[in-house]
Amino acid sequence: MAAKIISGNEVAAEIRAELKERVAELKEKGIFPGLGVVLVGEDPASVSYVTSKAKGSQEIGMFEETIRLPADVAEDEVLKVIDNLNKDPKFTGILVQLPLPEHISVEKVINYISPEKDVDGFHPVNLGKLLRGEPCPLPCTPHGVQQLLVRSGNDPSGKHVVVCGRSNIVGKPLAAILMQKAKGANAVVTVVHTGAKDISYYTKQADILVAAMGRPQAITADMVREGTVVIDVGVNRIPDASKKKGFRLAGDVDYGPVSEKASFITPVPGGVGPMTVTMLLYNTVESAIRLSQQQ
Ligand code: NAP
Repeated sequence: MAAKIISGNEVAAEIRAELKERVAELKEKGIFPGLGVVLVGEDPASVSYVTSKAKGSQEIGMFEETIRLPADVAEDEVLKVIDNLNKDPKFTGILVQLPLPEHISVEKVINYISPEKDVDGFHPVNLGKLLRGEPCPLPCTPHGVQQLLVRSGNDPSGKHVVVCGRSNIVGKPLAAILMQKAKGANAVVTVVHTGAKDISYYTKQADILVAAMGRPQAITADMVREGTVVIDVGVNRIPDASKKKGFRLAGDVDYGPVSEKASFITPVPGGVGPMTVTMLLYNTVESAIRLSQQQ
């Protein structure tokens, strides 16, 4: 039986509509969420991500400003900009678009963002809180995966979730989110990576399988059990001369054959992708509330 498609576009639209209402209510109470985005250089993919963050903010009625810096900007200058954003109450969330040019330390930059305004959820203080199960901004892509599961009626509680990939931005924080003794979590989580001798041994035991490897179509139908919920985080560019841009996007899952066995599946594009920016908007609104409570 063909899998039901979990549409990230639809879930993201639902969350954005909720956020729009919340922003309007907050503004009436004198709380103004605002997002500061720092863009270094003009990498086309980064420019496109930053544009979608600005558009998303506008859509929910939230203030947003992008600070554009040249690719050869000194690291100190970037830190100064972050310092200003940390101090400026107009900004309840700060995001530095990654990747950064090689001469700038990503760790230094992330550590410099005030944890209260770290809406990417990458600051070590927030990652520590996440592990301890304390309230904190959750990293956006894994949080988006959790929302896709919960809102499609696939609550992970008590399920065996197998996460393929252990990066700091997807695999590790997703495992940390889903293993918590909390609503929308409480799963038994297995994380696989290149150290596993045969990942199919693990993927076949999954109730929920999350692919976040950056390997096009690496998850094939023989690796998936009938009825598994499959979430594809991967975004890979495949050369394709028939496309105007010269490439097409493919996930980490061999979509056609796997969707014949899965009970639910996310497409690429239109699955996890639209959730990432949405959860960033969510974090910025939440952080405005938290900051207002500290005053
Ligand atoms: P990453 O930093 O390259 O990490 C990939 C992880 O997958 C690593 O832990 C690696 O294991 C593991 N891996 C790679 N090949 C494997 C294999 N054959 N078997 C088992 N494990 C394997 O990637 P990432 O940043 O997490 O991103 C993963 C994918 O998600 C990429 O396609 C990226 O574009 C996409 N992504 C999408 C969004 C979105 O918004 N939709 C956001 C972020 C990322 P080792 O640790 O052992 O090397």
